[in-house]
Amino acid sequence: MKRDEILHGMLCDRALRFAAIDGTQLVRDAQKTHSLSRVATAALGRQLMMTSVIASLCKNTTDTVSTVIAGSGPAGNLVCVGRNGGLVKGYASNPGTELPLREDGKLDVRGYVGLPGKLTVIRDLGLKEPYVGMSNLISGEIAEDFAQYFTASEQQPSIVYLGVRENAADGYVKGAGGLLIQAMPNCPDEAIDRVMDVAEQIPSLGVRLAEGETLEPILKDLFSTLDADFTNRMTPAFSCDCSRERLERALISIGRKELEELIEQDGKAELTCQFCGKAYQFDRASLEALLIEATDNGGTDE
Ligand SMILES: [Zn+2]
Repeated sequence: MKRDEILHGMLCDRALRFAAIDGTQLVRDAQKTHSLSRVATAALGRQLMMTSVIASLCKNTTDTVSTVIAGSGPAGNLVCVGRNGGLVKGYASNPGTELPLREDGKLDVRGYVGLPGKLTVIRDLGLKEPYVGMSNLISGEIAEDFAQYFTASEQQPSIVYLGVRENAADGYVKGAGGLLIQAMPNCPDEAIDRVMDVAEQIPSLGVRLAEGETLEPILKDLFSTLDADFTNRMTPAFSCDCSRERLERALISIGRKELEELIEQDGKAELTCQFCGKAYQFDRASLEALLIEATDNGGTDE
């Protein structure tokens, strides 16, 4: 089985940069983890891949990128978090909702997401405050919405392609891929024209990944007239970084009073990570230990 990968590089004498992803396996893993319907697989899969790509472009290993698509359709919220090297996790509020196919036979991602809505991108770069950008959804098909976000909120004109190809019968993910192309500062118009000349061939990326090809030869064909220079290679994955310690901190932060009530009324707690479904059990003794910490920390005392 071929592994997922992300490739970074430059085009047209370094006038533009690109980041491309083969996310076939990570979309399969997300589908399995959350029992995603076909339309949810397409929607969350596209967002997971873009989040992974944005995270892969971050400079520091501790940087994280969260993306939230909050439309008005049955999906509810779609939430993804990417971290170093393109590792990504995510969930949909309503993962099992299925919609009828569109008239052209395609999955109705726009209907699942629903307009109007917002795309929020939160970049946590380890500074005092995270950088939060937001734009209105313009299509609900996700790639166009990210392109609009980059242009409107980050002043970074971009081409975004995201594709998840599934078997019509059972939703098996045959291939999933994405591509981001961004102009560097002072990019000459002539370079943008050259890229636009190949733009309509970009969807061949998804088709060829679904046929089992690997990313690099596909990109070399696609960029054959653009002097592509490959600079970086990473292995993205659908992976959760939750831990018992993280959930302990969450329990401590609900406040001393609530924690005392929880111990008194239930004597135990089970917390489930919404990103991966893993359940963590806390018995009375461990809750009482957390209560001491909540007291000692002082931060949650009233
Ligand atoms: Zn988790």
